[in-house]
Amino acid sequence: MFAAPSDQPLPRLGNPRKFAQQGVRLSGQVPLSALERLGEALVTNEGQAEVALAFGISEERKLVVRGRVGAELVLTCQRCLGPVTVPIDADIALAIVPDEATAKNLPSELDPWLVAEEEINADLYAMVEDELLLNLPAVAYHSELCIDPETLSIGKPETASQDKANPFQVLEQLKGTPKK
Ligand SMILES: [Zn+2]
Repeated sequence: MFAAPSDQPLPRLGNPRKFAQQGVRLSGQVPLSALERLGEALVTNEGQAEVALAFGISEERKLVVRGRVGAELVLTCQRCLGPVTVPIDADIALAIVPDEATAKNLPSELDPWLVAEEEINADLYAMVEDELLLNLPAVAYHSELCIDPETLSIGKPETASQDKANPFQVLEQLKGTPKK
């Protein structure tokens, strides 16, 4: 029974205001398969996001949660359309706010986490999912060259297949008989 805390699932529901007042710390895993909005961007939703959260009260007396979320997300490479694993490691710095008006007055280092006053149990998974979505790359590529460079140098798709002739051969033809 010595499993590291992060091997445990993160509780899905919790009262963030109470957590902040009590200085609760949580860490655990969130199965990617539980995150439907994120799932639309993923090639596979197998795997877990690792989450660590520290709830508390900021110097400005705001209820906050800080922490980080990490995950290995499998996205579609926009070059070869194959799966590419993109590591995400993002800091979380949120203020728990009841409405949009309060959200607008936050210091720039805090993003709003909208939780209605009457909401006892907020969905922690949804918060984690938002953070992952915010940190998704706009486009994903393999870092190595994953496609034939000739296919890459398209530029003019119409002529790409026709102009197969080696430019040096063309040059030789212009100059006259190729040297042997
Ligand atoms: Zn690729």
